[in-house]
Amino acid sequence: MDTLICLVIQIRLTLHKPIVMSKKNTKYIFVTGGVTSSLGKGIVSASLGLLLKSRGFNVTIQKLDPYINIDPGTLNPYEHGECYVTEDGAETDLDLGHYERFLDSATSQNNNVTTGKIYQTVIEKERKGDFLGKTVQVIPHITNEIKRRIKILAKQNYDIIITEIGGTVGDIESLPYIESVRQLKWELGENNSMVIHLTLLPYLAASGELKTKPSQHSVRQLMESGIQADVLVCRTEHKIPKEQRAKLAQFCNVALENVIECKDLETIYEVPIYLQKQDFDDVVLKELDLKNDKEADLKDWKNFLKRYRNPKKSVEIGLVGKYVSLQDSYKSIAEAFIHAGADLETEVRIRWIYSGELTEENAEETFAGLDGMLIAPGFGDRGIEGKITAAKYARENKIPLLGICLGMQIMTIEFARNVLGYKKANSVEFDTGTPEPVISLMEEQKNVVHKGGTMRLGAWKCALKPNTALMEIYGSRNIFERHRHRYEFNSEYKEEFERNGLLPSGLNPETGLVETLELKDHPFYIGVQYHPEYKSTVATPHPLFEALIKAASQNRRP
Ligand code: GLN
Repeated sequence: MDTLICLVIQIRLTLHKPIVMSKKNTKYIFVTGGVTSSLGKGIVSASLGLLLKSRGFNVTIQKLDPYINIDPGTLNPYEHGECYVTEDGAETDLDLGHYERFLDSATSQNNNVTTGKIYQTVIEKERKGDFLGKTVQVIPHITNEIKRRIKILAKQNYDIIITEIGGTVGDIESLPYIESVRQLKWELGENNSMVIHLTLLPYLAASGELKTKPSQHSVRQLMESGIQADVLVCRTEHKIPKEQRAKLAQFCNVALENVIECKDLETIYEVPIYLQKQDFDDVVLKELDLKNDKEADLKDWKNFLKRYRNPKKSVEIGLVGKYVSLQDSYKSIAEAFIHAGADLETEVRIRWIYSGELTEENAEETFAGLDGMLIAPGFGDRGIEGKITAAKYARENKIPLLGICLGMQIMTIEFARNVLGYKKANSVEFDTGTPEPVISLMEEQKNVVHKGGTMRLGAWKCALKPNTALMEIYGSRNIFERHRHRYEFNSEYKEEFERNGLLPSGLNPETGLVETLELKDHPFYIGVQYHPEYKSTVATPHPLFEALIKAASQNRRP
């Protein structure tokens, strides 16, 4: 009899779906991609996040990346675009930048997970003996770890977690993620999670048609993994005709109103409005059984778009960098100019300048007509001398210049060489034996062997000196800005620089590290060791970018 009862209990336990405990009933949205990569899952996720946040929900967005690197910090920006740094010092995918820029709320270490991180955790556990002799396998150990990383965000009391799965459905490396989504969907139960599948409707010019077949196939591929897409978001160059919509609904098992069109638009910032017009947020709330009568309040967003589209002035800024063939490498900088420019009703045109070909001889011609300049962050010695030429040109010709991270270090080297007369001054990053190491390796970096995750990262406090340009720009004494570097201004030169007019105006209050430099008797010549671009959002444009644009407007050159 006892055995029978036990058996019944056991069967009931196995049949019953595990209950997921969380303080709130957090809802989960998974965003997958089909047909091809680069469809803009990040923008669609960020837009949805914004719509839901505007309706009063507490939302966060997470990105799962199927590559084996622990984080994109070690990836060449040519391959993966810019590495975005969070407040708590995570080196992450550039999509997190979109999430922050759209939602105006900070992401963290937990918002970006890679296959590298998943395996690292599982292998460390295995070495500790945590699996008690079990064979460690993709299923269940890797998928369990993926699920844990998704659910971990629920501890922060979010109403909705949007999880974007990197890559394209069908990729071998995405399989464990897709399987984890399948399991979670089942475990969470009806209406607690949903899958949005972003797909492409290619346009065949010869027949003048949008084709639905690739989307049907990718939805079917998802179904082979046990997942039915609940909503289709279709990237398309043209409006989707009624018949095609009906076809997609019928052959992909989704309700007609759940087929959402995402046409190519002039700017990514129009996407939330475009999706809202199709009641995308209502469709999602219905799937998640969330009741909310409030309409998404996009007043400020629309106001930003209006100002962006109707500028009263225009400036041209030269962006000097070494990755100029790929604008994704400086994504946050370009977006920061958009936010600040819109706020000031100023169109900011960026002239991308490749520092590798810049010389004293072609400087005049290269910089002709620029109203302002920015020297970009970077690593390694390619294009360094070109950047030094740019700093010299801006200093001598009184062109507003903002130097970010490596940009500030370049301004330091240029000043040391051409004003202080230390002809061989350099950063030890480029010349380990330089007699004048004006930029040196940070003390805590001296014993660092591994490249990954070992830089000075995340937000650090900086105290600005009173009566300085930076203090006036920020309007506050203490600021927090995000860092990502190994080298720093060599404090031994502090007084000499100050005496000669390049003032260290912001210092880390604990360590005394020089975080900012500004030149006297120049309309705007500012270098910052941190990355202001990471903190710029649509709702909160960055004061430094605004100040540069204002200075450039006053410097308009024919
Ligand atoms: N390469 C420089 C350093 O490590 C600057 C880094 C950067 O621009 N992010 O200090």
